[in-house]
Amino acid sequence: MSKSKASMLSVVIPVYQEGSHIRNSIGIIDGVLNEGGILHEFILVDDGSRDNTWNELKLLAGGDDRMTAIRLSRNFGKEAALCAGIEYAEGDMVLVMDADLQHPPELIPQMVDAWLEGYDVVEGVKSSRGRENFLYKACARFFYYILYKTSDIHLGKASDFKLMDRKVVEAWKMMPERTTFFRGMSAWMGFERKQISFDVAKRANGRTKWSLTRLIKLAVNAITSYTSVPLHCITLLGLLMFIGTVILGVQTLFMKLSGRASDGFTTVILLQLLIGSAIMASLGMIGIYLTKIYKEVKARPRYLISSLIKGGEKKC
Ligand code: UDP
Ligand code: MG
Repeated sequence: MSKSKASMLSVVIPVYQEGSHIRNSIGIIDGVLNEGGILHEFILVDDGSRDNTWNELKLLAGGDDRMTAIRLSRNFGKEAALCAGIEYAEGDMVLVMDADLQHPPELIPQMVDAWLEGYDVVEGVKSSRGRENFLYKACARFFYYILYKTSDIHLGKASDFKLMDRKVVEAWKMMPERTTFFRGMSAWMGFERKQISFDVAKRANGRTKWSLTRLIKLAVNAITSYTSVPLHCITLLGLLMFIGTVILGVQTLFMKLSGRASDGFTTVILLQLLIGSAIMASLGMIGIYLTKIYKEVKARPRYLISSLIKGGEKKC
């Protein structure tokens, strides 16, 4: 397929509890695309919101056949919502963005131009992280550092604001894992990439959906998806502890034989604590990987759809 001005762009947006401003956001994005003369469709995925989001999406998609609205049967999380959206996108290029206008729509024409120039993936990278507190920024930096050091996947400034060529989307669909991490998988895929930096805007309305526990889950998932280095660390730890044991053993025996053995139990207790905690930590680590294998083996669908409106008609 040749790239031309007449190519169609699919805009995939995961939407969760954004009822108060989603129509306004879509209106703004639509305006930018029309102004740029970009042929487009919207795939809006309601990730099981409990507010009026689905009603708003129904209103949007009801009379407009360029709009597909999908409602997942419950809140499956942003990653699953993205998968659903990407699977239903039909365009020659697919753009993924957030519903809260934190990804500036004004950048889309520039991204499409880069695609026309021949790039397969055009990604928005954060030049600033917007309004986040110091602790959050420090944790994010630490997480990306660990991920980079252990798996060579550099995501420091990566975002989920991305435009992908059809062939990249088809490649993405071939990846069968149940627990996905869009940013990481996209970096893993390669292809001709171009980065465009942007400032993270203020949220349109509402609040971020990422609680601390959700972020920790995402971080653990990302690290264990791309690297088995933590498992090797356990082996290394075991080896180090063995060396320590040999040295301490020799010393204890020497003290005992020369009649200078202390009658305190400090060493024993310290050692027990150390070994105990190392074993626990190691078992936990193995557990995390086992859980992942367990989830993949179950091979459940990534999401379930409860309603679908496409081409102005309700399909289910
Ligand atoms: N989102 C989602 N499911 C969730 C949480 C978030 O589909 O369980 C969507 C949300 O509607 C938004 C995007 O993911 O379009 C980014 O979420 P948010 O703005 O809360 O994240 P942040 O910008 O704070 O990282
Ligand atoms: Mg946001």
